[in-house]
Amino acid sequence: MNNFTPRKLAFIVALLLAFFISVLLSILLYFQNNFRIYYTFAIFLSTFTIAYFLILAAVEKFVYNKIKVIYKTIHNLRIDPKNKLHNLNLEKDILNDVNKQVIDWHSRNLEEIDRLKKLEIYRREFIGNLAHELKTPIFNIQGYILTLLEGGLNDPAINRDYLLRTENSVERMIALVEDLDMISKLESGGLALNIEKTDLLSLTKEVINSTELQAKERSIKIFLKESSDKPIWVMADKARITQVLTNLFINSIKYGKENGQTQVAFYDLDENILVEINDNGIGISGEHLPRIFERFYRADKSRSRTSGGTGLGLSIVKHIIEAHQQTISVKSEQNVGSVFSFTLRKA
Ligand code: ADP
Repeated sequence: MNNFTPRKLAFIVALLLAFFISVLLSILLYFQNNFRIYYTFAIFLSTFTIAYFLILAAVEKFVYNKIKVIYKTIHNLRIDPKNKLHNLNLEKDILNDVNKQVIDWHSRNLEEIDRLKKLEIYRREFIGNLAHELKTPIFNIQGYILTLLEGGLNDPAINRDYLLRTENSVERMIALVEDLDMISKLESGGLALNIEKTDLLSLTKEVINSTELQAKERSIKIFLKESSDKPIWVMADKARITQVLTNLFINSIKYGKENGQTQVAFYDLDENILVEINDNGIGISGEHLPRIFERFYRADKSRSRTSGGTGLGLSIVKHIIEAHQQTISVKSEQNVGSVFSFTLRKA
């Protein structure tokens, strides 16, 4: 029954029917003394022809139309756009074909469901993390305001201090919202990069200067490994690479040790320039290292929060470098230090 097409089915049934009817009628004619062999042939041929087309029409109407509904359902769901509906023809083994297509459709659906499930877990985790991040500053603000309302406002010992703390919490929320905005723009491709020929050396010097104050607060020195004035030309979006360097330098300060140092070096690779930012800070242990570029992932939770970290900095850095079609990596050893390296295409 494997390759039993509707045409074959109609042919066999019509043949059997024509055979029995012509034999039956021939016997009748024989008893009426009217038997002629060409009558038998004529009856056989006409019965066969009529039966064949009737059966084919019936098969088409009842089976084919029902199968067509299944095909339509599969194709309407756009599971297999290559395989058009009009390919269905009665010469083929429709049932086997439908069976095969349903199995294909099912396996493709399973992959799709798997992908959607992962997205759903990711979405849930993201919302959970976001709620968690927002909770602390909101509750803090609520606490400070209640204290002020319940009399603190007239107490010069705390009123200014509590307002400053409120301001800090608001700033923390703004930083979070700004980072989220940047991530969502980078992920949705809504942030067009303005890639141009850029002198990486002078850009790095500018960022070192702009982070100097924060570095000084922790007595950390950020410096170039080799001092030079020769420009290092790369193709980059100036504003975004400034952000990458700022995030990496600020991290090397936040997770650095007092009196520590952060060294920046450039290496000439074939087509790219490799930038290395090397600190002698607290480092990251092996268990955390593979995940630190994930959103909200923190190796050192308490230090990140007290220093105002949103947990999104490295995730933004990675997005920006990848939007430049380049890569970033990290090597680190706990209590020894970390090295963040990324590449940029030479101009
Ligand atoms: P955060 O706002 O928490 O700093 P990031 O995405 O910038 O978020 O960094 C993620 C985590 O990676 C940090 O919480 C910290 O634990 C770790 N980390 C990042 N940079 C360094 C570094 N230079 N030295 C040690 N740990 C680091």
